[in-house]
Amino acid sequence: MLRHPELDSESVAVKMLNQVQHDLINEMNQTTTDITAKTNWAKIRADFPVLEQQMNGKPLVYLDNGASSQMPKSVSDRMDAYHKHEHANVHRGIHSLSQHATDAYESARTKVKELINAGSLEEIIYTTGTTDSINLVAQSYGRSNFKAGDEILVSEMEHHANIVPWQMIAEETGAALKVIPMNDKGELLMDEFHALLSDKTKMVAVVHVSNALGTINPVKEIIETAHQRDIPVLIDGAQAVPHSKVDVQALGADFYTFSAHKMCGPTGFGILYGKKKLLEAMPPYRGGGDMIDKVTFEKTTWNDLPHKFEAGTPPIAAGVGFSTAIDYLNEIGIEAIAEREHELLEYAAEKLNQIEKLTIVGTADKKASVISFLLDGIHPTDAGTILDQHGIAVRTGHHCAQPIMQHFDIPGTLRASISFYNNEEDIERLVEGIELVKKFFG
Ligand code: PMP
Repeated sequence: MLRHPELDSESVAVKMLNQVQHDLINEMNQTTTDITAKTNWAKIRADFPVLEQQMNGKPLVYLDNGASSQMPKSVSDRMDAYHKHEHANVHRGIHSLSQHATDAYESARTKVKELINAGSLEEIIYTTGTTDSINLVAQSYGRSNFKAGDEILVSEMEHHANIVPWQMIAEETGAALKVIPMNDKGELLMDEFHALLSDKTKMVAVVHVSNALGTINPVKEIIETAHQRDIPVLIDGAQAVPHSKVDVQALGADFYTFSAHKMCGPTGFGILYGKKKLLEAMPPYRGGGDMIDKVTFEKTTWNDLPHKFEAGTPPIAAGVGFSTAIDYLNEIGIEAIAEREHELLEYAAEKLNQIEKLTIVGTADKKASVISFLLDGIHPTDAGTILDQHGIAVRTGHHCAQPIMQHFDIPGTLRASISFYNNEEDIERLVEGIELVKKFFG
């Protein structure tokens, strides 16, 4: 476990007290979740109390997992127990409660490291989410490395979180944003990508899985190609880590970002993975408590990684909850999750393809569990409103990816994003709902 330098972790008395308290709290936190049969999807669905409720008089069908996934009871119970019995500030207290809170909070770092196969704990930076992670890289790495005439390469299918932070730092440094185009299936044009790379390129920032189209991008190829020119690559993995096995070392990514709230965890918490060598050379992004080594009015020196980038009191309960969320996902198995979601995606695609006057937007050969679609002559917002009246939650609009909508010359889409706790019945309810929408609009 990574200990904060301010803590005296060697004290035997402290260790014994910690152990006793840890055992007691573990006992208290026995949750009702008991995933014994790993592929018993009905049982797994029952771990999500939110799915048991009625919405507008109908059983809720939640198909907006791309925006935020739901939380199993084990995670909310864990956060509740933390608030009730374990809360104290982290990294700074000699007292046992603070040390226990620190351990619980830091446990997420070890689990994230293992989940994505990072090289060390120093490479796992806690942030408030993908958006914050990308801003950190843009403001820290970008500010100290970009200059006038440099180019930052993003793709046409980025979420705004992987466009705007680069635009902001480009404006400040005089660098320019360049865009890898995509075809009408929603696949990146790799020839264009190769052609856009030059000595001017100082960063490639690409989404692993598109939240609006579902496209799985060839990020390994992108990273290898950029590395031939020593260009660092940031991968926005917000929609990839929840749904597939990601190995940052096998990919070779320099930076990789994701959010806890899309992985059965809480909001306000996320991860920036960065290669240690790069992170070490980067200046802090925010100043304050916890990120310092020594402060005088003349000069301040920085704490070691990862704390150098983690100023101030963090969202401790969220970190604790995320730790449990990773346990939960691991218990089911990321591979089993990926398989189940693929099964549901194929089922949904088959059903939706049979509906007349429905067009699927984003038909890449390699897709994750997102289906964006349009209904002829019906505005997505109107269709979404009717679906909601029937208890069906889908996202409508531009999905924070306006350039994608500009590509297709559409105002937005309806998007059903599937999770492992959805089932075939949810898809059938969506199909019925779409028929009702069509009937309503004649
Ligand atoms: N990138 C992608 C691909 C996303 O889907 C999202 C969330 N919709 C984000 C970035 C931003 O994530 P967050 O709002 O958690 O920072």
